[in-house]
Amino acid sequence: MSQAASLVNNLIRPEILALTAYHVPDCTGMIKLDAMENPYLLPQWLKDEIAATVADARINLYPDPNPALLKEKIRQLLALPDGMGVLLGNGSDELIQLLAMAVNKPGAALLSVEPSFVMYKMIATFVGMRYVGVPLGDDFSLDLTATLAAIRSEQPELIFLAYPNNPTGNLFSASDIRQIIAASTGLVVVDEAYYAFACDSFVPHLTCYPNLLVMRTFSKLGMAGLRLGFLAGSSLWLDQLEKLRLPYNVGVLPQLVAQKLLDHHDVLLGQADQIRKDRAALYQQLSAIAGVQVYPSEANFLLFRVANAPLVFAGLKQRGVLIKCLSGGQLTDCLRVTVGTPAENERFIAALQESLS
Ligand code: PMP
Repeated sequence: MSQAASLVNNLIRPEILALTAYHVPDCTGMIKLDAMENPYLLPQWLKDEIAATVADARINLYPDPNPALLKEKIRQLLALPDGMGVLLGNGSDELIQLLAMAVNKPGAALLSVEPSFVMYKMIATFVGMRYVGVPLGDDFSLDLTATLAAIRSEQPELIFLAYPNNPTGNLFSASDIRQIIAASTGLVVVDEAYYAFACDSFVPHLTCYPNLLVMRTFSKLGMAGLRLGFLAGSSLWLDQLEKLRLPYNVGVLPQLVAQKLLDHHDVLLGQADQIRKDRAALYQQLSAIAGVQVYPSEANFLLFRVANAPLVFAGLKQRGVLIKCLSGGQLTDCLRVTVGTPAENERFIAALQESLS
C-alpha cells in the first residue's frame, strides 16, 4: 500500500471509508428523468428579467449572510405567524446536515422510515449519529405501531418524514404524522420537498407543535440549479441552528434569482400544475402496460415495479432514457421515473414498452 493510501486508511473514519459516494450518473445526450427536476424552462420575459437582475450583481462581494427580503418573501408565501421564521440552506441537503450536527450529542439517534430519502441515513453516518430506520408497510404507508414503538425504545433526537415520500411518491397519513410528532420528545422535521405537487402541507400545524419544523426546497419547482432550501418554524429553533450555518452558504446569484422567481411564483406553480396533469396521464399509461405495477404519487415522479428492474433500466438507458433503478427490500425490481414534458413522457413510454418486450 502506498504511503498516501495507508495515511488515508488510518485517518479517515472507518464508517466513511465504508461509504459509497452518492452516485450522479452521466446523462449526456439522454432524456433525463432520474432526479425529479422540473423539465420546463422559464418564459423568455422572465429570463430577460432575471438577466437584468443579475447583470449588475456584486459578485466581487460576499453574499448577504441574512437576505432579509428573500426570507420575507418566503415568510409571506407560507403565511408564517410572528415568532416564526425561515433558515436558508444550500439546498435542503445542507439543512439535514445542519440539523443532525445540532442535536448530535453522544449516543443521539436520527430516525426515519424506509424506504425514504437516502440522505437522512447518509448524513447520520457523516456526522457519526445513530440511525434508526423503521420499515414502511407493504403499501408504503407508515407503520404507526412500529414507528411509535421505535420512538419509545430509541428516543430519537431527530425524526425526518418526507411528505410526500421519496422514492415511493405517496403522502403518509397526516393523522399518523401528528401522532408521531405528539409522541416524540425529539425534533420532527416534515420534509416537503415535493409540496408543489401535493395536496397537503404541515405548515399550518407549525403553531400546534413545539417540536415541529417544516423543510422545503425549490429544487423540484424549477430551481434545482440554484441550490436553495429552507427550514420554517419557531425562531427558538432557528436561532440555534443559525449558529451552525456557514455564513455565506447561499451565493449572491441564487439569492437574486430566487427573489425574482418568488415574485413570479405563479409561473412556477403553473408548471407544477402541468406536471400534475401529466403525472395523471403517465400513471394511466403505465397502469395499462402488462407487467408493470405503478404506485399512486403526489409528487413529480412515479414509482413502478417490473419483473426485472435492472434489465428494464438498462434497456431504457440504451434507448436514451435515464430513470432511477432502485434496489433492496421493498424496492426490489422498482424503478422511479420523473414526470417530464409530454414529449419526454411519450419517449419514455415507447422505450419502456420496447425494453419490456
Ligand atoms: N428531501 C427529499 C425528500 C428529496 O427527495 C430531496 C432531493 N431528492 C431533497 C430533500 C434534497 O433536495 P435539495 O438538496 O435539492 O434541496
